[in-house]
Amino acid sequence: MPENKRRLLVTSALPYANGPIHLGHLLEYVQTDVWVRFQRMRGHDVHYVCADDTHGTPVMLRAESEGIPPEALIERIYAEHRRDFADFHISVDNYHSTHSIENRQLSEEIYRRLKAGGHIVARTIRQAYDPVKHLFLPDRFIKGECPRCGAADQYGDACESCGATYSPTDLKNPVSVLSGAPPVERESEHLFFRLGDFEDGLRKWLFPDITDVRHVQAEAANKLDEWFAAGLRDWDISRDAPYFGFEIPDAPGKFFYVWLDAPIGYMASFSNHCAKTGLRFEDFWAPGSAVELYHFIGKDILYFHALFWPAVLEGAGYRKPTSIFAHGFLTVNGEKMSKSRGTFITARSYLDHVGNPEYLRYYYAAKLNGTMEDVDLNLEDFVARVNSDLIGKYVNIASRAAGFISRQFGGQLAYAGDTKPLVAGAKVALAQVAEHYESRDFGKAIRAAMEFADRINRAFDAAQPWELAKDPSKRTELQDICSRTLQGFKLLSVLLAPVLPALCGRAAREFFGLGKDFTWEDAVELPARVNPYSHLMTRIDAKQVEVMVEANKAGARPQESAAFISIDDFNKVDLRVARIVNAEHVDGADKLLKLTIDLGTETRTVFAGIKTAYAPEKLIGRLTAVVANLQPRKMRFGTSEGMVLAAGHGGTELFLLSPDTGAEPGMRIT
Ligand SMILES: [Zn+2]
Repeated sequence: MPENKRRLLVTSALPYANGPIHLGHLLEYVQTDVWVRFQRMRGHDVHYVCADDTHGTPVMLRAESEGIPPEALIERIYAEHRRDFADFHISVDNYHSTHSIENRQLSEEIYRRLKAGGHIVARTIRQAYDPVKHLFLPDRFIKGECPRCGAADQYGDACESCGATYSPTDLKNPVSVLSGAPPVERESEHLFFRLGDFEDGLRKWLFPDITDVRHVQAEAANKLDEWFAAGLRDWDISRDAPYFGFEIPDAPGKFFYVWLDAPIGYMASFSNHCAKTGLRFEDFWAPGSAVELYHFIGKDILYFHALFWPAVLEGAGYRKPTSIFAHGFLTVNGEKMSKSRGTFITARSYLDHVGNPEYLRYYYAAKLNGTMEDVDLNLEDFVARVNSDLIGKYVNIASRAAGFISRQFGGQLAYAGDTKPLVAGAKVALAQVAEHYESRDFGKAIRAAMEFADRINRAFDAAQPWELAKDPSKRTELQDICSRTLQGFKLLSVLLAPVLPALCGRAAREFFGLGKDFTWEDAVELPARVNPYSHLMTRIDAKQVEVMVEANKAGARPQESAAFISIDDFNKVDLRVARIVNAEHVDGADKLLKLTIDLGTETRTVFAGIKTAYAPEKLIGRLTAVVANLQPRKMRFGTSEGMVLAAGHGGTELFLLSPDTGAEPGMRIT
């Protein structure tokens, strides 16, 4: 037990209950879980809670489109989320739902306290309303032409083309994405939280004098400075029926906006945890509590967590968080996750195709550094790094040394000479890596661990145990080098246990026979014996990753919020009949064929991911359908100037579209 046993309450952001967990979510859960496991291994008292975020219009509409009540949808998603997190070894102590009794009670209580303090005001606003679906439309459910640059098909809050931000009423020719009908403006009374009342308290909390703890990262502080400079506006916390959420106690027909009750979900989950464990809620949430409270979040929700949330807590008489830990976004192969590129990968798809969750935990840890920088999952690098680090450097150490110990010494370890430097070395390593974990600079922790692994492997090679084994007079030396090597393996296993809990757990229980998982201090106890080595991890095959990406391409579906497109939208797509005049393999591409297509008036080059289903010579001369006005795309092998249309699940099941006899290259498809 550490001398200063800390009490910590830790959360990850609540995943939204209208879809599956994907690799982007997992970045945050792995980050939180590694940190939490590290703190537990050090003997601290850690409570890690989370919940599904269940309320709001998207959940309501998704349930409606499936023809089920929202309660049934969120129950199903809850089960899926819990299973996904468990399979990735996310060690939450309690996983709850914002659609819970605890959350309703806390939300109502907090609202009452804010209102009693004079921090809630009512104001009539004009808002877009869908006259066909009979509901008020969130900004993201309205599309139209950008008022600044005229770009078509832009959302109601911002233009993706020129970057302008505006309100949905500014859009030209706006339509509801739900019904396609032009929205009408309607008046409605909304309730607002007066964020500005808390400016002093927020400033003090965010920018304490140098004697105080810093509550947000430096980069986040800069962002917040900008927001302060822009002025803290009142926050609209109510939504009109129909809405899936909690009805506001003294305002029938009005509901708490999902972003009001979502962070309260942290408290609700913890309250539920208290009921199961006997912990006292007040010890953790009362002002002045000595418990450290940390929220891990993505940088996109910093505003909610660093402004609204502490202000709401202050206004309702609770403590504020100790720190907000914001991380950057996940990119895959250097780009935003994309369904068309097959890089929008769900947790389940990863497990189905690649399998071992600890590969991904390791790669994420190696890339995380405690800042708000984006993290790139480069799939080639992922395979190479896991195989070279985890298999080549780390697991290999045990398999190489354990063979001699099991065969020649019955599993018994013995150290010749002074072992003090060995123990001292372990202590230095533990202290160094602990600092990196504590500051969430996991990348540095991993690099340090891999440097130890290199050193251990070099010492083992230099001693040439395979030569020692041939000489009966060198038995003591052989046993010594193998024992030191296995102590090194034990040290590494402790250092990596927060990242690789299952693998290191097996090493602790089975190989070292400890009968329990490692604690941080276990690394300074030299092992006295080991059990025969059995396989701890296998290599990843790059093929598995390729198949996963392909499968996610095949599963690509259009954006759910854009259920209907207008005829004008359709007419924007220039679909043409084309003749494939040449088709060839592309050096270094497993899935692509390079096609030369004749569009009647011109020929173009198109790269198509159909190699798994078609031999190039079978394609030459045939007609097919192409998107002719697709933005040309630069690829590793050249520029693709269009897209060939195909259907199917991928792999060998891909089917090119063809027109009936009589169609000519260049004909427009309408
Ligand atoms: Zn624009």
